[in-house]
Amino acid sequence: RFSAEAVPQAPEDPLYGLKRAFLADPSPNKVDLGIGAYRDDNAKPWVLPVVKKADDILRNDPNLDHEYAPIAGIPTLTSKAIELLLGADSPALKEKRTTSMQTISGTGACHVGALFCARFFRGNKTVYVSDPTWANHNQIFSNVDLPVVKYPYFSKDTKGLNFAGMKAAIADAPEESIILLHACAHNPTGVDPTVEQWAELADLVAQKRHFPFFDCAYQGFASGNLAKDAAAIRLFVERGIELIIAQSFAKNFGLYGERAGCFHVVTDTPETATRVASQLAILQRSEISSPPLYGARIASIVLNDPALFAEWEDNLREMSGRIISMRTALRAKLEELGTPGTWNHITDQIGMFSFTGLNEAQVLKLREEAHVYMTKNGRISMAGLNTKNIDYFAKAVDKVVR
Ligand code: PMP
Repeated sequence: RFSAEAVPQAPEDPLYGLKRAFLADPSPNKVDLGIGAYRDDNAKPWVLPVVKKADDILRNDPNLDHEYAPIAGIPTLTSKAIELLLGADSPALKEKRTTSMQTISGTGACHVGALFCARFFRGNKTVYVSDPTWANHNQIFSNVDLPVVKYPYFSKDTKGLNFAGMKAAIADAPEESIILLHACAHNPTGVDPTVEQWAELADLVAQKRHFPFFDCAYQGFASGNLAKDAAAIRLFVERGIELIIAQSFAKNFGLYGERAGCFHVVTDTPETATRVASQLAILQRSEISSPPLYGARIASIVLNDPALFAEWEDNLREMSGRIISMRTALRAKLEELGTPGTWNHITDQIGMFSFTGLNEAQVLKLREEAHVYMTKNGRISMAGLNTKNIDYFAKAVDKVVR
């Protein structure tokens, strides 16, 4: 029944394969720049101090039980989660034109969004994604039989945005197509449109009646400012565009394994929002019944307490600040070494990742000779760099580039 023909051996997930190879490497100098998880200056995972506090509050709550969450998750989380994205004074919220549901982190939110589009979207059921995009997007959409088409995004020449190409593809797509956009800190390139470019994109999307699907996995993590990192979404909402948002709390709360996230739909009328919510509840019930509570409760405690919220913003500035300082240091060191090529893209790019421009041969050479682990496309997780390994890394890059 389960012959090799029926169930062929699938390749290992490249990112998890990379992690396995890193762990097996005995070199004391090894550097892990693969998976996008924050590390402190000692290359160790960082439990946000505010998360530690919320965790203590949660554990000491005498009324804590382990009952099921409501199907749509805990309202104290979902109501604050949408405010975080749109701004508390957003007209869409005042007019009750939104609906929110807790999900299995950002991946679960992307999946629910994909499923919702597959079932209910009446436009062109094709998803346009950036070239390149987070590798999981392709399988999340194809799993629910939505075709995926790429739009130009990254320019190999400038290592920045191919804005003309992006706009042309979005303008050429059939009216009412689904356009996937990274809200900030684009994965894998670290290249984001400017606010002016976002405004142009919003006009174009409105004109073509496209349906934006925002993936927001790094709010607060890019600039350190939650509102700034949500500026793109807000621009689209201000124009009255209906859209969906997949929101992850993995990176900005450091709650990776707890799977806390939300899915939101901004609609044209409150009646539409109510109908959408009713269908989302049915999809959720059949898929996960109700969402997990632990990470959601922690995020909810922080989002609902002004003092803890302010402390969270400090923690976000610390994480994004350390990453930005690593960008500055890496660029300076490569320029100091006179490493062939230009390195301004390292500081121009933002967020967890940088697309270095290193090619596959150079990436493999770095792995073999210097025990530096990064994905084959030359992407590095900036959080893997710290004051102790940055010299070593810059010298290793210099060597393979020459
Ligand atoms: N979207 C993007 C672009 C991401 O980079 C990630 C995290 N790698 C996610 C979504 C979702 O991650 P999670 O399911 O851990 O929240």
